[in-house]
Amino acid sequence: MESKKVLENLIISGIYFLQDKSLLEEILSFQESINEKIDRIVSSEKFACEKECYYCCIGWEVKGSIPEILLLIRELNALPEEKREEIAKRLEEYKLLEKKEDIPCPLLDSNLCAAYKGRPFVCRTYSSYDKKLCEKKKEFVFPEIVEKALDTVNKETSLVEEPFNYLFDTKIPITEISFDRENKLFFLNLAETVYIYPAKENIEVKAGKYAKI
Ligand code: SF4
Repeated sequence: MESKKVLENLIISGIYFLQDKSLLEEILSFQESINEKIDRIVSSEKFACEKECYYCCIGWEVKGSIPEILLLIRELNALPEEKREEIAKRLEEYKLLEKKEDIPCPLLDSNLCAAYKGRPFVCRTYSSYDKKLCEKKKEFVFPEIVEKALDTVNKETSLVEEPFNYLFDTKIPITEISFDRENKLFFLNLAETVYIYPAKENIEVKAGKYAKI
C-alpha cells in the first residue's frame, strides 16, 4: 500500500476519533469479535502448546494491526501500576536493542504473556504439534488452521470501509507502544494526530500535534 495514502487515512481516522470516540470503541469491539473467531478456529485442533510454554515469545518483534495493538495496550493498562512500570521499562530497553534474536518479548512476564487476552494474530495462531521444534527454533510448516484463521480475518476486515480499513491493514510493531510516565498508562501515538489510551472502562483520545494545527 502506498505509504502517503496510508498516512493520510490514518490521520483522517484519528480526526474522526477525536470527534467521536465511540467509533474507536466500535472498532475495538469488532477486533474482539474477530479474535474470538480466531480462538475458536485454533481451539478446534489439538496442539502441543500449553500454559507457560513461551518458546514462541523469544527472538522476534511482534507486530499487529492498529486495532490489535490497541487491544494489547488495553490489557497492559489493566495491570497493576507497579507491573505497568516494570513492563514499560522492559519495553524501553527492548526498543534500544539493535538485534532481537534470543531476546524475549518485553511483554513476557513470569513465563506468561502479560496481555494474553489481547495478543495479536501472530501470537494467537502460533501453534505447534511439537514443542521440541519450537525449542530448537527449527522451521516447521504451520498447521492448516492458521490459513483458515487468516482467511477469516481477511474476509471480516475486507468489509471495513475507508479510512478505517487502513487501521486493519497497517501492521505496526509493539515498539510503537508508548508509556505516559505521568499517568502511568500505555498509549498509541496514531500518526501524530491522536494519542489513544485504551482502558477497560474507558478509552481516552487526546489531540496530537497534527490535530492542533
Ligand atoms: S505479545 Fe505476548 S504472546 Fe506475543 S510474543 Fe509477546 S509475550 Fe508472547
